[in-house]
Amino acid sequence: MRLLLVEDDAKLADMLARSLREEGYAVDLAADGDRAYYQARVNEYDGIVLDIGLPKRDGLDVSQALRKEGKRVPILMLTARDAVRDRVAGLDAGADDYLTKPFALEELHARLRALLRRLPEVLPPTLNVADLTVDTRSQTVRRSDRTIPVTMKEYALLEYLARNAGRVVGRAELCEHVWDENHDPFSNALEVYINRLRRKVDDGSPTPLIHTHRGAGYRLGTNT
Ligand code: CA
Repeated sequence: MRLLLVEDDAKLADMLARSLREEGYAVDLAADGDRAYYQARVNEYDGIVLDIGLPKRDGLDVSQALRKEGKRVPILMLTARDAVRDRVAGLDAGADDYLTKPFALEELHARLRALLRRLPEVLPPTLNVADLTVDTRSQTVRRSDRTIPVTMKEYALLEYLARNAGRVVGRAELCEHVWDENHDPFSNALEVYINRLRRKVDDGSPTPLIHTHRGAGYRLGTNT
């Protein structure tokens, strides 16, 4: 899952980004409304955490503009005061949920998970591909009766492939959803992670599920 975090308080932004990355999200940062709007238009985010009070263009305006363009990306708004007016304005501007500062990190994580699950086409509670089960609530992976231990990055990669099961997912698209904008597109990190996943998921099974399509990308599914 790739998130855009929009927060102009650099210290808070760093802290939030760190905690979200620990939860397995790829996180891009924007420190003002113009930048946020630009990034949300050029990148495919799975969710946006959007502060209201921002330089150049406030969060309400950014949210409104994105909705006007038909962007359906889930938006979690951060409001500074617990004022009804702010919350209503946020929801009116197209936000899906809001969180009042200061908040506990656990609450941010929980709200975000709930928000991303609210669109079932984005994230159903479990994803099943043959005998492989990806549980998006507990972020765990099982193949038939065996629990497969995965790191957060491996999980993120497998979850994205499972969300797109049966389809060949291109390298760029995979990287975009699993790594943030600091990811070097020429590194072989993706291949390294795919190989690790393949060992964990497919080794010892008569039916391999992770397939490489040379020059095109990767596909999760039963037949070759
Ligand atoms: Ca702010």
